[in-house]
Amino acid sequence: MKEIKGRKVMVIGAGFTGLSAAAILAKEGFEVTVLEKNDKPGGRGMVWQEKGYVFDMGPSWYMMIDAFDNFFALFGKKPEDYYKTVRIDPSYRVHFGENDSLDIKADINENYKLFDTFEKEGGKKLRKFIERSKAMYDIVFDHFLYKDYWNILDFLDRSLIFKGLKLKILTKLDKFVKKYFKSDKAQKIVQYSVAFVGASPPISPAVYSILAHCDMNLGIWYPLGGFGAIVDAIKNLGVEKGVDFKFNTEVFKIEVKDKMGKRLLTSNGNFQADIILNTGDYEHGEMKLIEEKYRTYKEKYWKKKIIAPAAFLVYLGLNKKLNNFLHHNFYFNPDWDDYFNKIFGSNPQWPEDPSIYITVPSKSDPSLIPEGGELMTILVLVSPDLDDIESFREQYFDKVLEKVEKLTGESIKDSIVVKRIVAHEHFKNTFHAFKGTALGLAHTLRQTAVFRPHHKSKKVKNLYYAGHYTHPGVGVPVSIISAQLACEKITKDVKKVAMKKNK
Ligand SMILES: Cc1cc2nc3c(=O)[nH]c(=O)nc-3n(C[C@H](O)[C@H](O)[C@H](O)COP(=O)(O)OP(=O)(O)OC[C@H]3O[C@@H](n4cnc5c(N)ncnc54)[C@H](O)[C@@H]3O)c2cc1C
Repeated sequence: MKEIKGRKVMVIGAGFTGLSAAAILAKEGFEVTVLEKNDKPGGRGMVWQEKGYVFDMGPSWYMMIDAFDNFFALFGKKPEDYYKTVRIDPSYRVHFGENDSLDIKADINENYKLFDTFEKEGGKKLRKFIERSKAMYDIVFDHFLYKDYWNILDFLDRSLIFKGLKLKILTKLDKFVKKYFKSDKAQKIVQYSVAFVGASPPISPAVYSILAHCDMNLGIWYPLGGFGAIVDAIKNLGVEKGVDFKFNTEVFKIEVKDKMGKRLLTSNGNFQADIILNTGDYEHGEMKLIEEKYRTYKEKYWKKKIIAPAAFLVYLGLNKKLNNFLHHNFYFNPDWDDYFNKIFGSNPQWPEDPSIYITVPSKSDPSLIPEGGELMTILVLVSPDLDDIESFREQYFDKVLEKVEKLTGESIKDSIVVKRIVAHEHFKNTFHAFKGTALGLAHTLRQTAVFRPHHKSKKVKNLYYAGHYTHPGVGVPVSIISAQLACEKITKDVKKVAMKKNK
């Protein structure tokens, strides 16, 4: 298209959002350069390698596979053209305490039987819950995720609101779940995954119960080679379309003149821009890269926001095989209200007895480990409003590992050959994450769709934003969708301006 050809887009950030946006824009005909502060792509999903162990530092659940299919279809491709996926079975193991664990299976009929052991007609209730979850998912996927929201009017689709209200999408998730299940185990299993998208059952709307459909109907899949294989795939798409990648290039300032972002000042020289798409942490982009008078969202705005959890993460390379772990394993602590209150409440604290997620991807993928080894990542979600001090991190690790060893009856400490622990400071230093959040902006009702920061600046005409702070939100598939939405807006705006000029 002639109005697009030769127009320079500078994309800030090479996470899943920046990589996807760069490939789409280059396909449209823009001249695209990606500026990334770190020395490699992936952002939160970057890979770290040590002594032959290959760690995905962030995502481990390959969810909402339709979104990946849709993205690759834009290029006439399929994910399988770049990486192979396998379905994991059992999907995951849950520990409720010592000698109290169960497995969720890929065959949903097995899960109905399991739920019958929790409470009377538990299986029937699960069937009904999953049916409702699927109905919500279909509405969300077909009408909500791929739609950009600019003002409240965009949100007011009457027939959709009616359908949504009928399905109770706006009820608080914990209340919604309690209407279906009495047993603590059933309630926890159908709600746990919202924590992964920076939500929590007491503060998030029931629409996030769609994750139960993703979990039990669509299944838990794994990309062989890990999430690093998806990072490589999307980056390669960009390379095929002519994207220029500049790593070790941190943007310090966006120079604005006549309400247009003209030049980016970086640690690796300065770059002229016709269009700028910032996919780095939104708060950093607004508060640090542009002058105050050009900020759409000022300090007051960010102070009021509910920021998604930070993460205490431990990456372990082991020199032995583990027998009592699956690929995905959880410990759900007994008092969830207290745990979520320590994350989102007014008096945040490091939880004494937190819920814990442990992934052992080497159970499905031997390419990640030296022979005879095993690789494990331990994740505890915590409040972003906590001090992250190295000596404390070590103490906390000892406590968490002791718990994991007790729950699984398997010794780990004596087999560690690689160990790395990160928390808030890592996210602040590596990504400029606001308060060191791992997951960006939380998913509450007031931070959904039109209520998330927009894909376009209101003060700088050629400055756009995408990524996990924007709509649709947190997670790899929806970050990719946010890239698609921002790219559509950019292309539409460029054509609109060209049409005006030609009149
Ligand atoms: C521990 C963890 C586990 C997760 N688990 C899952 C999961 O299982 N499944 C799932 O779907 N999602 C998961 N997520 C969420 C998912 O990883 C994110 O939502 C997604 O990766 C966000 O991508 P992004 O590109 O929007 O942001 P980012 O990955 O943060 O990318 C932004 C990039 O911008 C760069 N940048 C920032 N500022 C500048 C600057 N000034 N100059 C140049 N570059 C800059 C950063 O270095 C970064 O590379 C997880 C996240 C974490 C942290």
